[in-house]
Amino acid sequence: MSVTAQSVWNNCLEFIKDNIQPQAYKTWFEPIVAVKLTGAALSIQVPSKFFYEWLEEHYVKILKVSLTKELGETAKLVYIIRMENTYGNKQPFTEKIPSSNRSAVKSQNVDIPLNNKSPELRNPFVIPGIRNVKIESQLNPNYSFENFLEGDSNRLARSAGLAVAAKPGGTSFNPLLIFGGVGLGKTHLAHAIGVDIKDKYPEKTVLYISAEKFTQQYIDAVKKNNRNDFIHFYQIIDVLIIDDVQFLSGKTGTQDVFFHIFNHLHQNGKQVILTSDKAPVDMQDIEQRLLSRFKWGLSAELQNPDFETRVSILKNKLYRDGVEMPEDIIDYVAKNIKSNVRELEGAIISLIAQSSFNKKEITIDLARVIVEKFVKNTKREVSIDYIQKVVSDYFQMDIDTLQSKTRKRHIVQARQIAMFFAKKYTKASLASIGSQIGKRDHATVLHACKTVDNLSSTDKQFKKYVEDITKKLSV
Ligand code: ADP
Ligand code: MG
Repeated sequence: MSVTAQSVWNNCLEFIKDNIQPQAYKTWFEPIVAVKLTGAALSIQVPSKFFYEWLEEHYVKILKVSLTKELGETAKLVYIIRMENTYGNKQPFTEKIPSSNRSAVKSQNVDIPLNNKSPELRNPFVIPGIRNVKIESQLNPNYSFENFLEGDSNRLARSAGLAVAAKPGGTSFNPLLIFGGVGLGKTHLAHAIGVDIKDKYPEKTVLYISAEKFTQQYIDAVKKNNRNDFIHFYQIIDVLIIDDVQFLSGKTGTQDVFFHIFNHLHQNGKQVILTSDKAPVDMQDIEQRLLSRFKWGLSAELQNPDFETRVSILKNKLYRDGVEMPEDIIDYVAKNIKSNVRELEGAIISLIAQSSFNKKEITIDLARVIVEKFVKNTKREVSIDYIQKVVSDYFQMDIDTLQSKTRKRHIVQARQIAMFFAKKYTKASLASIGSQIGKRDHATVLHACKTVDNLSSTDKQFKKYVEDITKKLSV
C-alpha cells in the first residue's frame, strides 16, 4: 500500500485518539485535514491561527510522538492555516508554518493578515481581494467574557469591560485602561471586549494590536514614507485596542503619532481600550500629555485572583479541554500557585501532559512535583520598583510621597523599609538603592537597613509591618 498523507495521518489519529480525552479529540483533531506528504513532511490544514496555536501549545508532544512513529526521526509537521475571513468573503488566505520548535515558530511572523504578502498593498491590514477596506480584528475568539471568570480581583475591570462592550465610545470609560501584573488576564479581557463588540455590532471596525507591533508598523511606515497612510488607517477604526502600552515608554515618535490618533478617535466618539503592566502614575518615559489622556477615562486594575477564583479558572480550563481531574488536586494547585493565572494554567497543562505521556495517574504527589518545579522556575526577581510599589501600597501612600524629602516619621519609616527590602531582595548596591529610592546616598541606605533590623526586634507593630510586607513580596 502506498503511503499517502491521508494514510499517515490516519495512523497518527488512531494513536492520538487512544491517548487523549474523546472530547478533546473531537474538538481539536477531527477538523484537521491532511493535505500533502513531501518526504517526511506532512502538511495538515487547520481552520484558524488560534487552532494552530492551541495544537502547538497543548498537543505538540503527542503530534510529535505519533508522527515520528510513522515517518521516522526526521518527521516534520507543517500547518496550513486556512481561514475564511470574518466578513464572509470565501476567499481564504493561507499561511504555512512548520511545527514543533516553539522558538522557530515564534520568530516567524504568523499573524496572517498582518503578514502582507502583496507589496503593492500599503495598508498592513487590508485583506487581499476585497475592494472596500475591511480590517481583520485580530481577535482571539477563545478570549471571551464567558471564559473570563469573575472574582473580586477582576470585578471592576470586567464590568467596565462589559459596559464598554455594550456601548463602545458611549460611556465615560474612554479610554478604558486595564492594568495589572503579568499573567493576570489583561490581554484576555481586552480581547473579550473586542469579541463582544464584534458580536453586538458586526459593522464596527475593531482592531486589536500590541503596542509592540504598533510601534514596528509605525517605524516601517516612516521608512517607506507612509506615515500619513498609517495615521489614516488608524483613524478609521471604531474600536482600537492597544495591548501593553508600557512598551511605548521612551519611544517618543510612536507616542507622538499615537497621541494624534488617540485624539482623533476620542473626538469622534470612537472607543479606545488600553492595557498596561503599570498604573498610569507609575509609567515611566511616557509623555505627560499622553499620560493625562490615559487618565481621562477609567483605569481598572486586575489583581491577583483569590483562591475561589483560581479554582474556578482551573475547573473551567479543564472542562474546556475535556479533561477530568480530582478535586483535591485542583485545590492543591490552586492553593500553591497564587500570583499568576498563566502559571496556574501552565501547571495544570504540565500535569495533564505528564500523566498522559508517562501513563501515570494524576496523584497529589505528581501534582506536588510539578507545582514545585513551576513555582521554582518562575519565581520572578523582585525589582526595586516593585518593592517601592508594594511598600507604598501597604502604607497607602504614593511612590512620590515615599521618595519625598519629608521627615514625617511614618513616611521615613516606609522609605527605610523599602530600602531594607531592596537590600535584602535585589543585588543592587547601596548607592544604587539610594539613588532609586528618593535620591539618597549609600550611607542613608545603610542606616535604614540597621534601623529596620533594630526596630523589628524592639517594636511589635513595626515587626508586623516587616512581616506583612515580606509576605506580599514573596507571593
Ligand atoms: P496578561 O496579558 O495580563 O499577562 P493574559 O491575558 O495573557 O495575561 O492571561 C494569562 C492566561 O490566564 C490566559 O490564558 C488567560 O486566558 C488566563 N486568564 C487570566 N485571567 C483569567 C480569568 N479571570 N478567567 C479565565 N482565564 C483567565
Ligand atoms: Mg498580555
